[in-house]
Amino acid sequence: MRILRTIREVRSAVSEARRDGRTVGLVPTMGAFHEGHLSLMRAARKDTDLVVVSLFVNPTQFAPNEDLSTYPRDEQRDAELAAGEHVDILFAPAPEEIYPEGFATSIHVAGLTDVLDGASRGAHHFDGVATVVTKLFGIVRPDVAFFGQKDAQQVLVVRRVVRDLNLDVRIEACPIAREPDGLAMSSRNVYLDAAARQRAVFLSRALDAAQALHDSGERDADGIRAAAAAVLDEAGIAPEYLELRDAETLAPVADTRRDTLLAVAARVGAARLIDNHLLKGDA
Ligand code: AMP
Repeated sequence: MRILRTIREVRSAVSEARRDGRTVGLVPTMGAFHEGHLSLMRAARKDTDLVVVSLFVNPTQFAPNEDLSTYPRDEQRDAELAAGEHVDILFAPAPEEIYPEGFATSIHVAGLTDVLDGASRGAHHFDGVATVVTKLFGIVRPDVAFFGQKDAQQVLVVRRVVRDLNLDVRIEACPIAREPDGLAMSSRNVYLDAAARQRAVFLSRALDAAQALHDSGERDADGIRAAAAAVLDEAGIAPEYLELRDAETLAPVADTRRDTLLAVAARVGAARLIDNHLLKGDA
């Protein structure tokens, strides 16, 4: 595996692979790798010939009051884990490489970003995501890019950018990797102390309770939401949001007859955690 720092080096490596007729896969990440990241790398390894993983803690998607300065970083460990998954290139640029002096462009996806994490974290968050992902697509020019369903809204935003800007890349969404007790893996789980870690599992339990109700035939969105809310309440967790929304448009829904995203965000101890389930509709 090569660790590359500059856009020029990445372009050159990718061009060479393309000349040989090889396909290119991209896994965008912010590092602090866990099984979720590794599952995306495995999917890329299986589907594409040249696997590029980007490791960049993107400053523009953090609000001033968020955890940019404390976000977990350990490039050496990440490099070892990526090499273990037979990644070809780890692209780990400095911030100035991505945002040189005078950088002035931002991609804003209207509508989809007004709700859930967009409402909770502020509009800058998905503007930052959409802009950096579009840049990475421009730098790497992947045939396929791999994202985690853990960040379900991010997948929808990226798909919309690709569609609206006619970008020639296929987006693959990979399932949520979970700890044995159900907690969705996250780089931010390191912020959880022992007590918070025990409470954190109630996010996935709440989603499980709602899923079970949906699976038993309930279709009323309020009833399904209430089942999840009751579990969070029992654990003393007040969610930032707990919502059922149309799985494609993120419009509010009254029932779960169509595919529905059940999404939750909550602060547990020192960590802000998100999780979701896709409730399959009847169609
Ligand atoms: P991050 O480094 O947190 O920006 O995540 C990089 C990519 O890994 C994103 O596409 C995430 O959705 C994905 N990811 C993060 N956590 C998980 C998880 N538990 N399961 C699957 N994918 C994940």
